[in-house]
Amino acid sequence: MREQINNKKQKNRTLSLEHYKLNVQWILPIFFILLVLSYFGVEFVKDLTYQNVYNNITELSEQTTAQLNLSISEQKKFVEIMIGSINSGYFKTPEDIFNRYRDDLEDYHFTRLAILDKNGNGTTSDGRQVKNYANIEEFFNQKDVYLSENRPSTVSNNQVNIYSKTFRLNQKDLVLFATVNTEDYKEILLRRLFHGKGGTYLINNNGSVLIDSFDTIKENNTNLYDFLKSNYHLTNEEDIAKLNLMEENIKSKKTGTFDIRLDKTTHFIHYEKLSINDWYVVSIAPDDTIAKELTTFLMISFGVCLFIVFVIISICIYIDLSNQKKSRKLYRVAYLDPVTSLGNDVYFKEHATNFLQSSAKNKYIISLDINKFKALNNIYGYEFCNQLLKAIGEKLTNILPENHIACRMSNDVFAIIFSYEKNIKTVLDRIFDEISTLQINDTSIHINLSIGVYQIKPEDTDINKILDKAYIARIKIKGLYRDHYYVFDEVLENQLIEEQKIESSMEEALKNEEFKVVYQPKILTGSEKLYGAEALVRWYKKDEIIPPGKFIPLFEKNKFIIKLDLYIFEKVCQDLANWKNTYGFTPTVSINVSKEHFVDENFIHEYVAICDKYELDTNTIDLEITESATIDEKIDILKILNIIKENGFIISLDDFGTGYSSLSMLQNMPIDIVKIDKVFVDKADLNSNQNIINYIMLLAKRLGVKTVVEGVETKEQVDFVQKLKCDIIQGYYYSKPISKDEFEDYFNKNT
Ligand code: C2E
Ligand code: CA
Ligand code: CA
Repeated sequence: MREQINNKKQKNRTLSLEHYKLNVQWILPIFFILLVLSYFGVEFVKDLTYQNVYNNITELSEQTTAQLNLSISEQKKFVEIMIGSINSGYFKTPEDIFNRYRDDLEDYHFTRLAILDKNGNGTTSDGRQVKNYANIEEFFNQKDVYLSENRPSTVSNNQVNIYSKTFRLNQKDLVLFATVNTEDYKEILLRRLFHGKGGTYLINNNGSVLIDSFDTIKENNTNLYDFLKSNYHLTNEEDIAKLNLMEENIKSKKTGTFDIRLDKTTHFIHYEKLSINDWYVVSIAPDDTIAKELTTFLMISFGVCLFIVFVIISICIYIDLSNQKKSRKLYRVAYLDPVTSLGNDVYFKEHATNFLQSSAKNKYIISLDINKFKALNNIYGYEFCNQLLKAIGEKLTNILPENHIACRMSNDVFAIIFSYEKNIKTVLDRIFDEISTLQINDTSIHINLSIGVYQIKPEDTDINKILDKAYIARIKIKGLYRDHYYVFDEVLENQLIEEQKIESSMEEALKNEEFKVVYQPKILTGSEKLYGAEALVRWYKKDEIIPPGKFIPLFEKNKFIIKLDLYIFEKVCQDLANWKNTYGFTPTVSINVSKEHFVDENFIHEYVAICDKYELDTNTIDLEITESATIDEKIDILKILNIIKENGFIISLDDFGTGYSSLSMLQNMPIDIVKIDKVFVDKADLNSNQNIINYIMLLAKRLGVKTVVEGVETKEQVDFVQKLKCDIIQGYYYSKPISKDEFEDYFNKNT
C-alpha cells in the first residue's frame, strides 16, 4: 500500500486494490478441484453410458436373433407336421397335400409348397410345373428338415429360402419344399437396430453373407470378414485381429461383442448363433447413433457440473467479498484516524517498521505537536480543533516528499517517517512556515509547532526506539523558545542512555530501598507556625542523589510510578504511625499521586488498605494531584476526585496555573487545597502576576478552598504572599526538603 494514505485519490485506489482483491489463492484450487471432479464425474458417466450401449446392442441383437429363431422354428415345426401327416399315409397325391395346407401357408409366411422328384420335376401349390430344378441333390442329401441358404426364386425375381424334407409317396422318393421370401427374414433383421442406423448381417458358419440388411453387399457369397476389411480399408492390426477373433469364435460356435473402428467411427459388433444351420446374426451399430445419445447426456451432465462449479464459485466470491468488506471496516477502525483520515499509531508502527527495512537512503523520523494545543481546545472548542488537525494532516501530505508515512499518534501528536537526500532543514522549515498560520472556516489561527527529528541509522530496526528519540528531541524543543525543531543529538543520546540506565536499575533500587522520603515543611502564613509537610521522593543511588525531575517523567512513561508512589505512601504512613505513637498526633503530610494511577478506578483501595494497616485516618492524609490530570482526556477526573474524597482523603490540586484548566472547573471539584505553582512567585514577574494570584485567592476563598503558594525563596516573596492573604507557604525560604529526623526536629521546634 502506498504510504500517503491521506492522499484521497491514492487512498481510494490502493484501498480498493488491497481490500477488494479477489482471493485467488483459494478460488483457484477450489476451481481446479471442482473441474477435476467434474471431469471424473463426466468420465464416470461416460463409462457407464458406454457400458450401457454395449449391453444395449447385445440385448437388441439377441432380441433380433430370438425373433428370427422363433420364425424359423415355427416354420420348421410346420414342415415337420406336414411330413408327419404325409408319412402317416393320409395323402394319395401331391395335390392332396397342397389342398390340405394351402390355406395355412400365409400364417407361417410361406409363399408356396412344391413337391419334386429326384430329377427336379414336380408341381407347386400354386399350380406351377417345375422342371429340372437346379441342385436338387442338395435337398435329397439332407436327413432332417433342412433350410437352404437364399437363392433366386424360379418364379419371381425374389430371393428365397427353402425348407425341405424328403419323403416317400406311392413308392417314390420325393422332397417337400416350403418356400420363404428372404425379404421376410431381412425385415426381421432390419427392425429394431438403433433407429435404423445400425444393421444386421446373416452369415453362415464360413462368414458368407446370406442377408445384408444394410444393402451394401451386391454380390452373392461375399465373405463378411473380407468385406469389412476391404470396404472400410482396415489396416489397423488391432482391428483386424478383432475381426479374426470373431471369425474364430463363430467357427467354434461362440457368441461375442466388441468394438471396432470402421470409417473412423467406433462401431459395436455383436454376433449371436441361430438355432439352425450354425448361421450367425451379426449386428453392427455405428458409434454416432450411440454417440448422439451419449453426447447429449454428457453435455447435460457436463453443463450441470459447470453450473454447480459456477454457483459454488459465485457463493465463495460473495462470501469472500463480504468478508473483505467487513475486514475493510475493521481495518478502518483499527488503522485509520477518523479526524484526519491519516493512519493512527498502530498503522504508523506497522508501516514504518516496513519502511525501516527498505533500501531508501537518508531516512528521518519526525515527532511533532502543537504548542499549547489544550489551550486552543479550551478557547476554540473540540470541533474547531478537529478541523485544525485535519488541515495540518493535509498540509503535511503536500509538503512532505513522495515516500512519506504521516500519521496522527494521539491528540495533537503527529509522527512522520520518510527519506530525503537533500538538506533536511528545508523540509523542516517548510513544515514550520506553512503550518504557522492556518485558515479554518473564517478564522485565521496562529500555530506553533514543536518538531523533534531523528536521523535514522542503518542499524535502527526498532520503531519504538526511534520514535522515542524523535519524541525526546521534540520535548527538548519545548524549553528552547528560539528554535522550532530539534534534531536528536549526542546530548539527547546521553540522556537516553541515562534513562535506559535508570530503567534497568529501578526495580532493583526499589528492593534495595534506595528510594527515600524527604519532607518539605509547609508554614502557616500568618503565624509562621508549621502546618505540615509535603513528602517528596529522593533516589540515593550509591553516592549520588538523583532528583525526582530526572526519573519521575520516565517512571510515568513506563508506569513504574504506580509502584513507586505506593512505596513512598507506605513509607510516609510508617513515619506517621511512629509519630502518632510518640507524640499522640500526626502532622498533615501531603503525598504526590501521579495521574497514571487514575486509569484504574480501583487504585484507591490500595491507598486505603495501607492506611488501615498503620491505623491511620484517611482524613489526616493529603493527596496531591497535579492540575494536568484534570485536563487529560483519558481521565474522568471528577469521578476520580469524588472517589478519593469519598474515602476521606484531603485533596490538594498541585501546580495550579500551569495546566490551562479553567478556573471555573474549580467550582465543581471536591478539592480542599489549591497549590499555586512556583512560576507565579517568580521574582521577575512578581508584580505582573499579582492580579492572577489575587483572582485565584478570591475564588478559592469563595469556594472555601485553602491556598498554598509554592517555591517561595525570599523575604520579598513571603511579604508578597502574606499581602495576598494566602493560607500556607512552602519554599526554600523556610526549609528545603529534609530527612525524616530533621523534620521531626523541625516540628518539635515550630509547633
Ligand atoms: P512538586 O510536587 O511541585 O514538588 C515541589 C517541588 O518544588 C519539589 O521538587 C521541591 O523540592 C521544589 N521546591 C520547593 N520549594 C522550592 C523553592 O523555594 N524553590 C525551588 N526552586 N524549588 C522548590 P522535587 O522534590 O525536585 O520534586 C519535583 C517534582 O517531582 C514534584 O513537584 C513532583 O511533581 C514530583 N515528585 C516528587 N516526589 C514525588 C512522588 O513521591 N511521587 C510523585 N508522583 N511525584 C513526585
Ligand atoms: Ca507536589
Ligand atoms: Ca507543585
